[in-house]
Amino acid sequence: MEYTVEIPYTCGKANRRMESIIHMSSMPNCPKCNSEYTYEDGQLLVCPECAHEWSLEADNENVEDTKVIRDANGNVLSDGDTVTVIKDLKVKGSSLVVKQGTKVKNIRLIDGDHDIDCKIDSLGAMKLKSEFVKKI
Ligand SMILES: [Zn+2]
Repeated sequence: MEYTVEIPYTCGKANRRMESIIHMSSMPNCPKCNSEYTYEDGQLLVCPECAHEWSLEADNENVEDTKVIRDANGNVLSDGDTVTVIKDLKVKGSSLVVKQGTKVKNIRLIDGDHDIDCKIDSLGAMKLKSEFVKKI
């Protein structure tokens, strides 16, 4: 260990801080030593027992990564699903139309206004909006 964190145990002021922290039971346990005496230090969470520091930010990003995308019926879509198109969709910048009922295999969910990346037989790669498809 490069440094030890003794302050919470030896300093009266810090002890009071520890008490208030202990009562805030919403802090997650230390991922390294499972201590429950973790506290927040700015953007970081700190474990006074093993001196491990980690960030809650990363957790928040993970939550965003798992954003749920639903089809027209409210069913949750996931990568690799097969869907059908529920209405004729004009392909932007071309005269092509994705016909209602077109089956789209192996979709890939992406970020953005059009949240499905896919390849349609005879039309090629394109992006669709999840609100215009239905999971099979
Ligand atoms: Zn720890």
